[in-house]
Amino acid sequence: MNVTDIRVIGLSHSLPEGKGLGDARGIGRTRSTTLLRLTTSDGTVGWGEAFAPGSIAQSTLDELFRDDVIGMDPFTVESLAESTYTDPYHFGGSVFVQSVLSAIDTACWDIIGKTVGQPIHRLLGGTERTALTPYASTMYFAEEDRPIEQPIETARKEGFTAAKIKIGSGVSADVERVRTARSILGEDAHLMADMNGNYRPDQAIQSARALSEFDLTWIEEPVPPENYSGYREIGRAIDTPIAAGEAHYGRFAFKRLLDDRLVDIVQPNLARCGGLSEARRIADLATTENVGITPHVWNSAVGLAAAVQFAASLPAYPHSRTEPEPAFLEFDRSHNPLRSEILRTPFDPTDGVLDVPQEPGLGITVDTTALEQYRIDS
Ligand SMILES: [Mg+2]
Repeated sequence: MNVTDIRVIGLSHSLPEGKGLGDARGIGRTRSTTLLRLTTSDGTVGWGEAFAPGSIAQSTLDELFRDDVIGMDPFTVESLAESTYTDPYHFGGSVFVQSVLSAIDTACWDIIGKTVGQPIHRLLGGTERTALTPYASTMYFAEEDRPIEQPIETARKEGFTAAKIKIGSGVSADVERVRTARSILGEDAHLMADMNGNYRPDQAIQSARALSEFDLTWIEEPVPPENYSGYREIGRAIDTPIAAGEAHYGRFAFKRLLDDRLVDIVQPNLARCGGLSEARRIADLATTENVGITPHVWNSAVGLAAAVQFAASLPAYPHSRTEPEPAFLEFDRSHNPLRSEILRTPFDPTDGVLDVPQEPGLGITVDTTALEQYRIDS
């Protein structure tokens, strides 16, 4: 069985004027991503997602991958991750190379799963996990004037037992947002706060200390992803766990976060980090350093499905005796039809449980008719 066809499908959806959402760094109105569809000689189709604009994904694929992928046996998928660091030797560290690799890798695993009749999480780790704990990614900074508590009220009514909110616009605003979310979700809920790298280390430390009374499960990206020394400084100064990794890609970037113990939780995005194969390597590194791992998800339903399969493959932690931590899965609650409308059976994170598909491969069926509504030329 060999790959005989690769299709790049750029997708985009724009929010109406005045309905933009964002983080402490700014407001956005467009959600874009790129899907990849591989077809094999026996007609099996595999899907993957690249966290990259369609035109860049297309040219990266054509220039650097197409000749190697056409004719490739999907079962040799892991050799592709290796070769990105050796050929094209000078470009392996590029985010777009790793994003396109992520899509190819995920599509190959989808094909492998369909070929052997197993969901990917069973192939990656053999766990028997059937459900994850979704956390609502919500309380975005909004373009429209709306009560800050509204989205967290919605998450609570939907049954979420965990949520992550946006902060990072100043200490007093951070305290107001976290206090509001905590009061609505209750003392038992897991609450995380994302600064989106908008602070200097001293500002992040000041905010984290002001938030210490609210029992945050983690603070995310307190400083920009490249500010490794800042992560070290913050980690020494605060007690709240620190998470990062959505903007990192490839095993070497994660190795640096882990070797230097800069974070307590790593968050690879399956459409950027290098795919399922690389995510598994990152998980091995994290486990070796006794650091937590949970995927970042800001993707279409295909990248979400890859994250679900990956998260479901991870062993419970701690491994014995004490109550295991929830197996978290980030679930964006902003309006995004690329997440909610392109599968025949969309993921349902309500009531505090996200079922792990047990069907082969990614366990999803892409609705190609729905896809066409959001397709852009690439
Ligand atoms: Mg984040």
